[in-house]
Amino acid sequence: MEIRQDVDLTPYNSFGISARAAHFVSIGQPDELAAVFRHARQEKLRVLVLGSGSNILFVNDFPGLVLHMATRGVDLDESSGRVRVAAGEVWHDLVVTCMNKGFHGLENLALIPGTVGAAPVQNIGAYGVELGDLLVSVTVFDSAELRFRTLEREACEFDYRHSLFKQLAGADLVITEVELQLSRDWQPETSYRALSEALQQAGISEPTPQQLFDTVCQVRLSKLPDPARLGNAGSFFKNPVVSKQKYQALLADFPAMPSFPTDEPGLVKIPAAWLLDELGCKGQGRGGAAVHEQHALVLVNRNRASGEDIFMLAQDMSSKVLTRFGIALQPEVRII
Ligand SMILES: Cc1cc2nc3c(=O)[nH]c(=O)nc-3n(C[C@H](O)[C@H](O)[C@H](O)COP(=O)(O)OP(=O)(O)OC[C@H]3O[C@@H](n4cnc5c(N)ncnc54)[C@H](O)[C@@H]3O)c2cc1C
Repeated sequence: MEIRQDVDLTPYNSFGISARAAHFVSIGQPDELAAVFRHARQEKLRVLVLGSGSNILFVNDFPGLVLHMATRGVDLDESSGRVRVAAGEVWHDLVVTCMNKGFHGLENLALIPGTVGAAPVQNIGAYGVELGDLLVSVTVFDSAELRFRTLEREACEFDYRHSLFKQLAGADLVITEVELQLSRDWQPETSYRALSEALQQAGISEPTPQQLFDTVCQVRLSKLPDPARLGNAGSFFKNPVVSKQKYQALLADFPAMPSFPTDEPGLVKIPAAWLLDELGCKGQGRGGAAVHEQHALVLVNRNRASGEDIFMLAQDMSSKVLTRFGIALQPEVRII
């Protein structure tokens, strides 16, 4: 285990923000974690677990120890369709590997940037599928007790872009392995509108896994900027969830406001992108930061933005939404 000092985090966050970590360690084996946390405890260092930094905004340098998860390993049991995957594996590569071996369920989640270990943290989701639909269990290292534990799906408290790992009760847990249940006997999930429209346009009524995967990739590439070319972290805000009464009241002033059902009968989800579009946010900027020209939910590093530029732009946007609609937007991105 090599702990480096004063490390540039630019290559470790998809916004491409130039922040520094006072201490930085990359681990290739889960059994290195005990030594890392003993060291952090001894030196009184706060630890930040980092996958590939595609859901993090560094507003400040990090004064503690950044723990970069670089563990590897995919173990697919072809008789049961269960796959156990190390936290540091690249999510999209896992989707491709499983699909090519004939095990399905992950196709809608293709091209989501990041690592497998971060996927349960915000219960990644896209095009009608969430990780929690397929997850069996996670193995975690409990840094308070310095031991490994297994958490079954129920214990992960998955919700929309939310889980135990975003709460205080999960703050000491480092995810080291994820176990998923995949299937050879596959039913495509095509109900999400952008996806069903793209399939229809391509004349595909019953997609194969490969066709669904290709369509998801095509839709994503047409909508979202590639972080390798234009720094961003995908959707900056979550879609707000409001009561049906509040939504009905809003409709009186904004009759075109769309909504989606949620699992809770009394609540609906409103697309944050619609609210931001109404306010003309696309293309607006602050310092080197800007709102993407085609997608009001995506903040981009247009020209050597600082973390503060992006943060202040996000603040401007959420305060405008609050003033106009009385809705408080919540960031999806973790702000450090
Ligand atoms: C272009 C783009 C498109 C995106 N599209 C989507 C999308 O469609 N759906 C979606 O849900 N997300 C999307 N995202 C967000 C992002 O891809 C996911 O949140 C992803 O899971 C982040 O993975 P990461 O490894 O980069 O995590 P990081 O950004 O490194 O970390 C994210 C959070 O997880 C914690 N964490 C990371 N690894 C671990 C671990 N092993 N144990 C415990 N905690 C850990 C970190 O401390 C942090 O709080 C998108 C991002 C981009 C840039």
